[in-house]
Amino acid sequence: MLKVDNIHTYYGSIHALKGVSLEINEGEIVTLIGANGAGKSTTLMSISGVTRAKKGSVTFMGKDITKVSTDKIVAMGVTQVPEGRMIFPALTVEENLLMGSYLRKDKDVVVKDKRMVYELFPVLSERRKQHGGTLSGGEQQMLAIGRALMARPALLLLDEPSLGLAPIVVENIFEVIKKINSTGTTVLLVEQNAQMALAAADRAYVLATGEVIMEGTSEELLNDPKVRAAYLGEE
Ligand code: ATP
Repeated sequence: MLKVDNIHTYYGSIHALKGVSLEINEGEIVTLIGANGAGKSTTLMSISGVTRAKKGSVTFMGKDITKVSTDKIVAMGVTQVPEGRMIFPALTVEENLLMGSYLRKDKDVVVKDKRMVYELFPVLSERRKQHGGTLSGGEQQMLAIGRALMARPALLLLDEPSLGLAPIVVENIFEVIKKINSTGTTVLLVEQNAQMALAAADRAYVLATGEVIMEGTSEELLNDPKVRAAYLGEE
């Protein structure tokens, strides 16, 4: 479904991605793990077109999207939930959700999808008239995911959904991610919380200083002593 082939991405003179390659098959949850600054967010942004790879290519459903505009990439079925959530604080929960569907023409289906998001996150339904900025961190994360789902993505890119959230909220978010995946959405998940990410994902890539240093099924990585020592906090 998605093929990232040897991409190099720069921020000025900083060489953030040094030849990253990865593949995602339809229906999978794939996770990217790695330390701060490894290039996880940059990889997601190079796929969604928020930043651009200078070399290499990104192919989605057989089409080269390396130079396609971000709104066209969304329309093709790839939506990113950015790190830090970035909801619209002055808009209500409902308005935030509708912003996620603004590129869609099938407005009758949009109504159904909104209902689906409220079923996934009942707390958002209770707060539909409340301003986004007044929600708790966990609720804002749910809203950011809900808004992304309103674009009906075939591939959902999630950047650190667990960041700054209480463990119980994190569990809830991961449950919903699995549910979203089970209804047919493919997921690429970036996480610092490697334990949770590997528990939820089918396969994983480990990034370090802009390069993929390891890949495998989640089970293989969970059982790998090097991964356990470096990313799962074991001595
Ligand atoms: P984190 O988990 O801390 O978000 P990450 O693995 O997602 O880390 P990136 O955010 O992709 O890492 O950053 C990769 C490298 O690129 C880092 O060295 C970072 O300092 C650098 N970088 C990221 N964004 C910018 C920017 N806007 N300008 C300059 N350098 C940047």
